[in-house]
Formats: sequence, C-alpha cells, structure tokens
Amino acid sequence: MENWKIAEYTRYYNSEEFQQSYLYSGDDLGALWSEDKTYFRLWAPTAERVQLNLFHTGDKPDLYVSHEMVKEEFGTWIMTVDGNLHGVYYTYSVTIEGQTREAVDPYAKAVGVNGDRGMVVDLSSTDPEGFSYDIRPPFNETNDAIIYELHVRDFSIDCSAGINAKGKYLAFTEIGTVNSYKDMTGIDYLTELGVTHVHLLPIFDYATVDETKLHENQFNWGYDPKNYNTPEGSYATDPYHGEVRIKEMKQMIQALHKSGIRVIMDVVYNHTMASFDSNLNKIVPGYYYRTTGEGDFSNASGCGNETASERFMVRKFMLDSILYWAEEYHIDGFRFDLMGIHDITTMNSIRDALDEIDPTILMYGEGWTGGGSVLPDWERSMKFNMKKLSTRIAAFSDDIRDGIKGSVFLAHEKGYVSGKEGMEETIKFGVTAAIWHDQVDYWKVNYSGGPWAAQPSQTINYVSSHDNLTLWDKLTLSTPWESKGNRLRMNLLSAAIVLTSQGIPFFQAGEEFLRSKPINEEGTEFEDNSYRSSDRVNSLKWDLRTIHSEVFHYYRGLIELRKAHPLFRMRTAETMSKNLRFLSGMEPNVIAFSLSQVVFLQEESAEEILVIYNANRDAKTIYLPEGEWKVYVKGTRAGMKLLSIITDQVISVDPISAVVMMK
Ligand code: CA
Repeated sequence: MENWKIAEYTRYYNSEEFQQSYLYSGDDLGALWSEDKTYFRLWAPTAERVQLNLFHTGDKPDLYVSHEMVKEEFGTWIMTVDGNLHGVYYTYSVTIEGQTREAVDPYAKAVGVNGDRGMVVDLSSTDPEGFSYDIRPPFNETNDAIIYELHVRDFSIDCSAGINAKGKYLAFTEIGTVNSYKDMTGIDYLTELGVTHVHLLPIFDYATVDETKLHENQFNWGYDPKNYNTPEGSYATDPYHGEVRIKEMKQMIQALHKSGIRVIMDVVYNHTMASFDSNLNKIVPGYYYRTTGEGDFSNASGCGNETASERFMVRKFMLDSILYWAEEYHIDGFRFDLMGIHDITTMNSIRDALDEIDPTILMYGEGWTGGGSVLPDWERSMKFNMKKLSTRIAAFSDDIRDGIKGSVFLAHEKGYVSGKEGMEETIKFGVTAAIWHDQVDYWKVNYSGGPWAAQPSQTINYVSSHDNLTLWDKLTLSTPWESKGNRLRMNLLSAAIVLTSQGIPFFQAGEEFLRSKPINEEGTEFEDNSYRSSDRVNSLKWDLRTIHSEVFHYYRGLIELRKAHPLFRMRTAETMSKNLRFLSGMEPNVIAFSLSQVVFLQEESAEEILVIYNANRDAKTIYLPEGEWKVYVKGTRAGMKLLSIITDQVISVDPISAVVMMK
C-alpha cells in the first residue's frame, strides 16, 4: 500500500463516520475457547474479506481448513468453529482493496514457534499446580517498593549460577542453588538481597531471537514486540507448543510470589518491530500508528514507528492487554518503555482499570521518547507532564541518575560521587523525589528547571539500568586515574543516595556486585548498549557476589534499613517537605539532611534520622544536633547493626561515603 493511501485511510479513521460506525468496545476479540466450540472475532473494519485459517502446527505447511468469516457489527468479523480446538493453530487472511495478507491475531493468547501463528488455548490447562491459590505478596504503598531490574536469560545462563534451566523461566523455580563459593544464587539470592519487586526486561513474544535456533545462544533484550499477549518462546523449554511458554512463565511468577517477591513486566506498546508488515498494520492499515500528513510512519520510538494510543482501538488494545497480564498471569506491575509516546488519557485509563483489580499494582515508565512525535508534547506522558498523570504512575529520574555519576551520553563525564563540583542541588532534587521543596535551588539542578513530580510515588530514583554503561564501568571510564578502592566508595555512595532518597529506588541486577560488561579481554572497553551482545557480556557472573561481598552486604544493609524505617518512604509531598530538612552550613560536596516525624507525632521524642553524603576526597568533620546518635551506615558498612554511638555532637565522615544515624 502506498503512503498516500495510508494518509487517505488516516483521514477516514479520524472522520465522524468511522468513529460512529467502526469502533468496537466488546470484550470478545480473539479466540474464545470452550470445550465444544471456539468463537473467533477480529476487528478489521476496512477489510472486504477475512478468512480464518486453521493448522495442526505453528510452523509446518499443514493448513487443514479455511473458513470465510462473517462481517458483523462495528467492523468486526466472526466465526464459530465446533469441536475442541485447544492446540489448533490459526491465522487470518485479510483482503483489503484486492490485496490479501496473512496475519496473526493481535489478541492471540498463545502462539507457535517464533509467534508466526496464533494458537487456540484452554487457559485453565496452562495453570501450574496451585496457581489458582497464587497471591500477590503483601505490599501496600507504591513507594515501599525496591525494584531490581533483571533479564530472564542473564539471571541463569552463566555456569556460576549453578542453575539447571539455564536462560529459562524455570530457572526461577530452582531453590538451593549456589555459586563456586557456595553462596546463594538465583531466587534464594533475591530473597537474601531483600528487594520487593523484580522487574523483568521484555517477556512478551519479541521478534529478534529465532526460536528455531536456540542452540545458537542468541541474545536480545527484547524491545522488539511481535505478539503482545503471549510469552516469549526462547525462555521456554519448548517454543513450538504454545501452551508450554504460558505454563512456564506462570511457574516463574508463582515461584517469585512464593519467595515474597512481586513481578513487574517491561511492556513495549510504543512501537512494533515491523511497521508496514506488522500484524496490526496488515489487519487495519495505518490505524495503529501515528503517521504524518503524507502517510509516513512517525518515529518517536527511533525504531521505525510509534503507536497511536490516543485512538480508541489502540487504547483498548493496550488496556485489554495489560489487564490480561495482570489477571491471567498475576503480574504485579508494568514498566512502560518510552512512556512519553503514550498519551496521558490512555495512561490514566490504565491506572483506573488496574485499580479495579488491585491498586497496589505498580505503573511507571520512561518519561521521554526516542525521537520527535506528531502528537503534541502536552498530550503525551512526558516527565514534565507528570502532574497531569495519576499520582501512582511514576517516571524515571534521569536528573538523579546522571547527577550521581555523570551523563549516560558522555562516557567520561563525572557526577557527584566521582568528583564533579556543584552537584549538590541536583542530588537534593533526587533526595526530595523531584517534588517541590523550599530548600532546593532549582536553578542549579542539572536537567529539570523545577520539580516535576507531585508525590513521592511518582519518582523512580536510580543510577543504572540495562541501558548505557553499568555503574561500575561508568565509574571506571570516567575516573581512570582513581584507585579501585575509591571507585568502590563511589559505587557505595551512589547506592546510599538512591536508597536513602524519597521516592522509589531501582537498580540494575548486579549493580550490587560491581557488574561489568567488558568487550575486550583487558577489560578496558565496555559495552554501553548490550541489547544484542553475547552472554559473556550480559550474563550475571554469580561469583562476583562473593568476590565483592562487601558491596553486596552494603546494598543489602541499605535495603534492610530502608524497609525498617518509614521515614525513608514518606507518603506525601506535604509530609516530605516538612519532615525532610537539609542542614545548612555544609562544605562543598557535603549534603546533610534530617528526617523526623514532627508532622506525624508533634513530639520531641519521635524518631529522627540524619543522613550525610560526603563526595570529597578527604574526611569531613560534621557538627551534629544535640543528642545521642546511633550510627548504622558509615564507611563501607550499612545495615541494621549498630556500628557506634556518638554523644559528643561531632562525627568525621569518611572520604566518598555516606553516614546514616538515628536518634
Ligand atoms: Ca519470540
């Protein structure tokens, strides 16, 4: 189809006639299985003919029947096929203006190998034993979360994991696994670390890993969506039979839930891997994507296209998909890739719909895009529009990410912990969760000229994620003259800032044992975009948890401390601005603040926490408010264990380190 034709269709989609006659709001799109018949419904308003093709397998030339579908209301096509169709594969042949193209049902709940055909599925047969009793682990407030970002394959593919189901969903079901030093790995390790949520990089069916060649050890992050409502096949023990990946993903979620860990899914509704030839575009040309007046695909994703969430049927598709994952798979949270592409109304509608299921389900995303969009900035879920979004939708703070350790775009740039001067206000901006605070000088904040969050539940604080260099590699490249010891202190200080700030802390798996992605043998060059690098670059090397155990214990200690003290997790902007006060008179590169319960309790005896960051290369003497201060974080140690008690109102804060004490 020519571009001018797409442009013509787009005008039609926006017309009153189309809006009145062809938007379908029913909940029966897809293939609805029952024991004696399966009911198919596809939305294809511009099609002149639709055929339903049934196959015995997901990949072989074994079509056994094609049915002419019947045009029904609001642009949908229906067909009921008698018999038990569980395990039958299907596609649609959609004819538009005389051209017929074969497509997979966007609502397919199961697919064959490489997601090239849908599969009719009896979902109850995919439930592992006890799944109907699986419940979300206890969790109340959004900013109680401590999020660990993980790739399914990275988690278990390296031998040091000691896991049998290498690179698979089932790796999460193995308990008692250890590294070469006999320290815990796998799911036991996650419990030991103490994180509340595991955020998994894409686990829906993505395109780039060829599921027929799994012996080739391919790797991809998975930001290339193919089928939104089915699990990725390469993480299953058998990608050919559609029910296997469903069951095994459920087993993974069940195992994490049993360990008290909630599961967040990284969702990529902002674009599809294919553009003109995507399933969505074959079925309704031009409808699912934003296009220019000339009919070109708009490309805010930087991946060739961007979806049009503001259109009724796209919004519905996203909503239906999210609710399906939350209900069928018990997913506990969603991270929206390039959330800045999605319109604000859609994001708020998803929040409202999730609240009907469970308001503790998390929602957050990237408040930016990968390029310009044809939809105006003010209509999209950009970081600077956070105040138009629900207070329980959060955005990543690139302000603190880069403030702590330097820009992700400039490998050699330093940040606060690595010796860049004048970063105090940016760090304070992070500590206060990007919410307005009278003691932050917004003129001096690196990126945002003002607070962008309305509540602490809107801000994800972090210093590293799958994108860009790992924290350790960034510190190595930006401070080549430093000792390893000093870099280690920089890493610890970074963690202390993220985990003592208000908002929601987040970190990339392995940050807590100095994860590195070297691309040469000498370890002097590092991968900053490992989306398709080898396992050698990407996998978690579990022996590092032992080799760098002091780093692991520091992170673990901070997590323990944060969980034990609600003052690190204040609920509202109002309590935060009153209860968090920065101490004045600090030397350059020293930040100190107190957290107290004055607003909650109105009494002197209430708990008070004092946090100090010192990014200087020398120790700093800090004079303390009156009282007996119990020190829990100092030097390279952090946790619930009391380290010392200070009664003489003065403390020496080690070079490049944090102190946390309590009264
Ligand atoms: Ca796939």
